[in-house]
Amino acid sequence: GLDSDNSQDADTVTVHLRLRPLPPDEPSAWVASPLTSSVALQPALAYGRSSGLGNHNFDAVHVGSSNDSLYKSLAKPLVSSVLSGFNALIFAYGQTASGKTFTLSGDDKSGAEGITQMAVKDLFRGIRSSKREREWLVRCSWIEVYNEAVKDLLEPNNIPQIRSSTSKGTFVAPLAEIIVTSPASIFDLLEQGQKHRHVNATDWNERSSRSHTAFKIVVESWARDESASSTYVDEDGSPRPASPTKGKKVRVSELVLVDLAGSEKYVTKGGQERRAEGANINKSLLTLGKVIFALSEKPSSSSGMAQQQHIPYRDSKLTRILQNSLSGNSKIAVVATLNQTTASIEESLSTIMFAKRIK
Ligand code: ADP
Ligand code: MG
Repeated sequence: GLDSDNSQDADTVTVHLRLRPLPPDEPSAWVASPLTSSVALQPALAYGRSSGLGNHNFDAVHVGSSNDSLYKSLAKPLVSSVLSGFNALIFAYGQTASGKTFTLSGDDKSGAEGITQMAVKDLFRGIRSSKREREWLVRCSWIEVYNEAVKDLLEPNNIPQIRSSTSKGTFVAPLAEIIVTSPASIFDLLEQGQKHRHVNATDWNERSSRSHTAFKIVVESWARDESASSTYVDEDGSPRPASPTKGKKVRVSELVLVDLAGSEKYVTKGGQERRAEGANINKSLLTLGKVIFALSEKPSSSSGMAQQQHIPYRDSKLTRILQNSLSGNSKIAVVATLNQTTASIEESLSTIMFAKRIK
């Protein structure tokens, strides 16, 4: 906000709350006020409670609105900033069946597009409109983290590891990074990756609610007149435009879209393996919250140079994989999704607490 001494910092994390439509004849446990960007428990349900009372405020509250309007208010500004060379991370957080995947990927049955499809179309619109001045190279990768194992959804034969180097930061390799030239070619990749996820799943619902996926679009561009219009493939196999050291200024930025595992408390049910898996999910989401909280915290102005604070990236695979996007040079937008039913009140409150904490 205006009271911040570092205006860039103030915009790092945007948090929107979205309430999934109710089943017919079910009452809502929430009073949602899009105009004041707040939600509160229905007064009758708040009675006798000691926590979660009062209004909870966000950057926006969406109820009964389309993916399109959510895209325009939450994601579109980030897509524009990716085209201008800034990184962006968008993720959906919430209990299973609260609408994360619907928001990010839409729905095949109704044909509703998700914000991923809208972002992809907007990216290419922006690229097309500046093709005279700049040359563009776009490539995609898609990772799934399931039970703390990293999978390459675009090349299932890869066994990716998390690595780091001083020049590249933290990265995943080997990892397919597919060059794409149109929205349609990205949609094909998404379809293929989705098939690979299904093939790996003995129980698809279980797998989709217990895994995180991160779809990454890397956008590189350079001024056309300076370009020799040739690309080469560097030693790790990723294609890059001819060397920036030869007088070319290459702008690189990435958009990462993350569909998180369900945020519900994984109760200690099932065998030991199951319990460990649930504990991993709880820990990775907790760590994600801590990392974003650390990033959104403004350094106190009295301390002069910001003191090096410890950001616990290394505490989970998810935050290590997303480390470059969680570095503070990246704009972060979060859609926290809620089920409005009374049966989901406790999980909804925990989603609200997560969302308020990182704001
Ligand atoms: P999650 O990914 O959080 O587990 P889903 O996105 O799969 O949840 O949503 C659960 C169900 O609710 C799906 O059938 C989905 O199509 C439906 N749904 C979720 N959000 C909406 C919405 N805003 N409008 C219409 N249907 C929705
Ligand atoms: Mg889902």
